[in-house]
Amino acid sequence: MKKIILASDNAHKLEEIRRYFKEAEIPAEIIPLRDSGFSGEIVEDGETFEENALIKARTVALATGCAAIADDSGLEVDALHGAPGVYSARFAGVHGDDNANNAKLLQELDGIPDCKRTARFVSVICVYREDGASVSVRGTAEGLILTEKKGSGTFGYDPLFYYPPFGKTFAEMDGSEKNSISHRGNALALLMEKRDFFLK
Ligand code: IMP
Repeated sequence: MKKIILASDNAHKLEEIRRYFKEAEIPAEIIPLRDSGFSGEIVEDGETFEENALIKARTVALATGCAAIADDSGLEVDALHGAPGVYSARFAGVHGDDNANNAKLLQELDGIPDCKRTARFVSVICVYREDGASVSVRGTAEGLILTEKKGSGTFGYDPLFYYPPFGKTFAEMDGSEKNSISHRGNALALLMEKRDFFLK
């Protein structure tokens, strides 16, 4: 079975990507970064999701000699002119502090009416092959930012991200449900159309 290293130690991303590969019966094993032998640093200094996804996958593939997959994702809020965008993980200052990031988001949207709380999650997934070829895909999911958190599953901004077609937040969905409509699920579906490329 082909091994592909995930250029991240985010347990939720790992779970979502592994679940997708399993349900789509893709003959590839996703290895978390911590188990890959990679010990370098990934300098995520791109200005777009595309640039950062490529930086992450390329850095890990070149260092390990194995194919790598990276997801660069984030939340774009229309009333904040697309912020936090590529800075989603460190919106409140500390990388990966979900509680602080959600609190800052609520504060910045204080007083903004429901109809103007539109937002989207974006996920760009890049696979960088051992031979230096790469492919990137972009998935999005449209929703609304609530005024208080709902649900406790998953991570990041999920408890504030309300998905109108299902009448609940991403944090109230189970893994399969979220994958069926999420930005990452949509990106992975596009990636599956290129399975001959990335399984090579
Ligand atoms: P990255 O690891 O640099 O791509 O940062 C992604 C950040 O975007 C995360 O730390 C979250 O704050 C946010 N994010 C991305 N995808 C999701 C998701 O599926 N749910 C909730 N937050 C997400």
